[in-house]
Formats: sequence, C-alpha cells, structure tokens
Amino acid sequence: MIPLAVPNLAGREAEYLQECIASTFVSSVGPFVDRFEAMVAKASGARYAVATSAGTTALHAALVVCGVGRDDLVIVPSFTFIASVAAIAHAGAEPWLFDISPDTWTIDPALVASTLAEETCRRSEDDELIHTKSGKRVAGILPVYTLGVPADMDPIIALAREYRLPIIADAAAALGTKYKGRPTGALGAEFTMFSFNGNKTVTAGGGGAIVTDDKKLAALFRHLTTTARISQEYDHDMVGFNYRMTNLQAAVGCAQLENLSQFLAIKKQIAQAYSRAFASRHDVSEFPNPHFVEQGFWFSGLFLGPAFFNKSEAIRKQLVLAGIDARPFWKPAHLQIPYSQSIATSMKVTNMTWQNVLTLPCSTNLTPDEQSRVIEAVSKALDDLS
Ligand SMILES: *Cc1c(COP(=O)(O)O)cnc(C)c1O
Repeated sequence: MIPLAVPNLAGREAEYLQECIASTFVSSVGPFVDRFEAMVAKASGARYAVATSAGTTALHAALVVCGVGRDDLVIVPSFTFIASVAAIAHAGAEPWLFDISPDTWTIDPALVASTLAEETCRRSEDDELIHTKSGKRVAGILPVYTLGVPADMDPIIALAREYRLPIIADAAAALGTKYKGRPTGALGAEFTMFSFNGNKTVTAGGGGAIVTDDKKLAALFRHLTTTARISQEYDHDMVGFNYRMTNLQAAVGCAQLENLSQFLAIKKQIAQAYSRAFASRHDVSEFPNPHFVEQGFWFSGLFLGPAFFNKSEAIRKQLVLAGIDARPFWKPAHLQIPYSQSIATSMKVTNMTWQNVLTLPCSTNLTPDEQSRVIEAVSKALDDLS
C-alpha cells in the first residue's frame, strides 16, 4: 500500500531523542522546547512562538486569551478539520459557520463583509458587536489556511479592524508559506496556530505552536498554557491549562524543522507532477492555488468534476484495491452532529466541494516510481468510472 501522508524521519530525530533520554529532560521543559520555539518563530516570520501539546489546544488557549467566552460567536469556515470548531466550543463559545470561496476553499472575505453588514449591530450599552437575531456577541474570526494555502487575509484583516474583532488563524498545515510575499506568521493576526501532528509536513509526533508579534499576548498565552503559576509556592492567578509541549516532542520537531524547506520543495514537486499528469483531463481540476500565495502543498490530489459526482467513493475503492491510499477530505462542520444546529450562512460552495476532493499519496518520501504507479491507477480509475 502506498500511504497517503506519513512522517519522514530520516533526519536527526533519533539522535535528538537519545539526547533527551541521556539528559533526563523528557518533560515539559527542556532545551529542545526553547530551540523549537525559536525555529518556529523564524520559519513563520513572527516575533514570538509558544509550543503546545497540540494545534487544537493552542487554538483553545488563543481564543481564551482573546477574550472569547461563554455564548460568544466566532466566525469560522464550515469546511475545516473539526479541531478549529471544537476549540471554539471548548472556549464555551459557538461557531458561526461560513461558506467558503471556490478560489481558496476557505473563508470568503466578501461573504464575511456582507454577512457582518446585514446580520450584526452594535449594542448601545457596551458597544459590543452583536449577532442581531440571536443576541449573541461576535467575539472573533478564525480563518483556516486550508491545505496549507493562506486565506486572502488583507480583506479579512481590514474587516477585523473595522469591526474590532481579534483574528485567531488556523494555519495548522501552513508553516513556511507566504501571503503576498509576507510570511504567514506575521500578517497581523493576533495569533496564528501551527500543528505538528503526524500527517503534517513537519511533525513533532504531536504538538502545536502559536505565534504572534505581540509581546503581551505571547506572555499571557505562555502563562495560561503553563497552569498560570505565579510563584514557586503553587500560586496560580487564573484558570490555566496544562498545554505545554514536552522536550521529547520538541526534539522530533527540531529535527523535522531542520528539513522544512526541503520538505516544502518536495511537496511542491509532488503536486506539480500530479498537476502535469492530469493537465489534459477536463473532468478533473487541481486544488486551489491562488496567485497571492506561496503555499505549502500539504496535500496533493484532484478536484473531481461533474462527471464524477457521487462517484468519489467508487474511485477511492478502486484505488485502494490497487494499493493506493486515496482518501476523502474534511466533512464540513455544519454536517457534524454537535454543530448541525449552529448559526450558519448558506453552504452552497462547501456542499458542492467537500465530497469531490480526492487526496492522493504525497509523503515527502514518496518515490518517483510510486508516484507513477499512483498516476497510472488514478487515470485508470477515472477512465473506468467516467
Ligand atoms: C491538523 C489540523 C488541526 C489540528 O491540529 P492538532 O495538532 O491535531 O490538534 C487543526 N486545524 C486544521 C485545519 C488542521 O489541519
């Protein structure tokens, strides 16, 4: 079986893990955590980075630091990995689910602009932004950098300033990417999150990080994610979290980050090889690759055209029989049990998109021979089922 996306651990991972064991620094402080944070800050273009136990926990704590709390609404695209939405619920708030742009498969700035204009008002007592129909406070925007493609952030940032909303960006798979030539960790969001889960381009076995250019926000985030302790005598001044990354995770993460630019180059090559192989087919298209980004090509694959509507499952089955691990992509939040009643825009684009996304093997250790096998099998499956 050619796997979809597996870690590439050919660097100094084992050596660094040995160092952890030898030094007994295996827990949530240690030199690798500090080194990891410095490397993430550098790779993201942000001033400050704080490592966490997961991307999900980083989002949760970031929302809390931004003042998101009980019964608030946070704007988020429905087409995302469930963690973006779960983090909002963990903070006691509710997702306000938005349809996506067909050009980026993530938050559509024009839709956010028109919806905020039509469906919100300012509360006279406290000047808070209120979703008129529900009476709930709108407390933030959580854009997602789907597939490692940064969202169109300039108009989102302008809207956030206009409506005085913090931005907590889910850039889980977008480390090392750029938007209009600027590194994605320094676009003006209050917080930008990266994930180091096993299937991301660089992994720490599990883990996350938040980056920000705001010194105070960074310090508060660090305080909150490390039990909010204020003294050696077990004094705590807030309801804190134990969301720290361990030195073991950071050791793997550091070894991976040493190869970030190489991994990104390979991911791009893989995507381009698929792109060339299927360029002549008019019944499928590529994943979004907007002109304003240098993206991460986290996943490669195909967007199935109308000829294959309702056939994606059959295509995947045929590929799996041929030894190719092809998979569906995220099922949107508005179709999930806990969020089916959430406040939501129309989901025209999301509903047309999600079922027709076919992800294909794109590990950084995929060999050219393996990729040729994938291309052959996919071409055959498409021919058989069209
Ligand atoms: C991977 C991913 C996450 C979750 O990160 P974890 O580190 O697994 O908690 C969140 N959002 C998106 C969009 C992701 O792709």
